[in-house]
Amino acid sequence: MRYFVILLAVLTSPYALATQARAAESPASGLTFTAAQLEEAAALRELALRDDTGYELLRSLTSRVGPRLAGTPGDAAAVAWAQAQLRALGFQNVHAEPVRVPRWQRGECRVELLSPWPQTCAAVALGGSVATPDSGVEAEVIPVTNLDELARMDSTRIPGRIVFFTGRMDRSADGSGYGRAVTVRGRAAAEAGRRGALAVAIRSVGTDRNRLAHTGAMRNKPGDTRIPAVAISNPDADLLEDQLASGQPVRMRIRNTSMWADSAWSANVIGEFPGRERPREIVVLGAHLDSWDLGTGAHDDGAGVAIMSAAARLIGRAPLRPRRTVRVVLFANEEFGLSGARAYARDHAAEVERHVFGMESDLGAFAPLGLRSRVPADRLSAIRAMQGVLTPLGVQYRGNDASGDADVGQLAALGIPVCDLDTDASEYFDLHHTANDTFDKVDPLLVRRNVACYAVLAWLAADLPGGFGRGPKGR
Ligand SMILES: [Zn+2]
Repeated sequence: MRYFVILLAVLTSPYALATQARAAESPASGLTFTAAQLEEAAALRELALRDDTGYELLRSLTSRVGPRLAGTPGDAAAVAWAQAQLRALGFQNVHAEPVRVPRWQRGECRVELLSPWPQTCAAVALGGSVATPDSGVEAEVIPVTNLDELARMDSTRIPGRIVFFTGRMDRSADGSGYGRAVTVRGRAAAEAGRRGALAVAIRSVGTDRNRLAHTGAMRNKPGDTRIPAVAISNPDADLLEDQLASGQPVRMRIRNTSMWADSAWSANVIGEFPGRERPREIVVLGAHLDSWDLGTGAHDDGAGVAIMSAAARLIGRAPLRPRRTVRVVLFANEEFGLSGARAYARDHAAEVERHVFGMESDLGAFAPLGLRSRVPADRLSAIRAMQGVLTPLGVQYRGNDASGDADVGQLAALGIPVCDLDTDASEYFDLHHTANDTFDKVDPLLVRRNVACYAVLAWLAADLPGGFGRGPKGR
């Protein structure tokens, strides 16, 4: 017993801990990189900064496929396009894995203020909205800031009215305003419907002043009361608030013909470059292939599709293939409920241990700013070395709290280590889910910088001899 205590004291002394830390960081331990590996990655970074493969892929996807809402002909065209492109880029094992997706059909949407001063608002149906009667619904508008205020409100004021959610999304480089605002989009109709509202209108979840509304999915649960739900553009939300501020009753008419249809087949599209030493072990580069229907899904998430495909192609052509396989997964139906990511996690459950690392691009093609990881503490030195290769691109290390984002986050929840590349989100939500999300808004130099970051991260992650162990399970 006494001997054990002394041994414990020696092992946990500051000297012993420092020695262990040095051992963990030496290349021989397999938990960080050699100078040669870091040089290989830096060379890939420089190649990416001169290569427009990603930008040209995005041009092709947006012009030849265009909008690709889950279950639509555009979605099917995107699945075919992606397989053809990956094969043409030299990927191996290119295939599509079927995924059943919900299908919602956008119809016509018209929102009019009838009194006191008649105006027509630029508006779109929220994803999943049910239709109004053919003649529309017409009612007085009750303004409310957010869901908390709705819950506190005198509930006798709501039945028979149209509830208007006025809350405005804040602009920020980290995109945090979106998380706060989007809960209204998800639950406004269900919460107002439960209290007897006829319909809801929300101020668009977006930071622009264009007369364009932002769509996006609602988060319905079984048993929810379903009422029509629309988003109106920020300028029209201002106009409506002005009319409400007059103190006179404001009457609105909403006519919407969107509706649910039968579910349909889509697919996750997969392609890879097998590793030179351990091809059964996989690093996943994820993006989602579906998009909203109003624009052409350029930043969301055509950019991610193009960036990840171009990054993997550079790795496939590198003088030295990494030890493990680099696999691109273009997920089906992220926007309407992560169908593809859930199907992938389920269908590949038996291979979870072979997935050594993951990352996802789904915040548009903007300036890379930061790297987050979700790895065991003894792998942080490897992550810091990866970030070091990205320092010339302006990427700082931001902590071990990565999520894996929406799709790859489903894998992170199973304990697969991940990293997030934070990009400057301050302009992303001007375009997000609007008719303005088109190719002309994408800067080719920023596509190159993103490709450079992911090529470096993926090559190094696939080549770390000791791998990344397991991350924490759960979200
Ligand atoms: Zn997206």
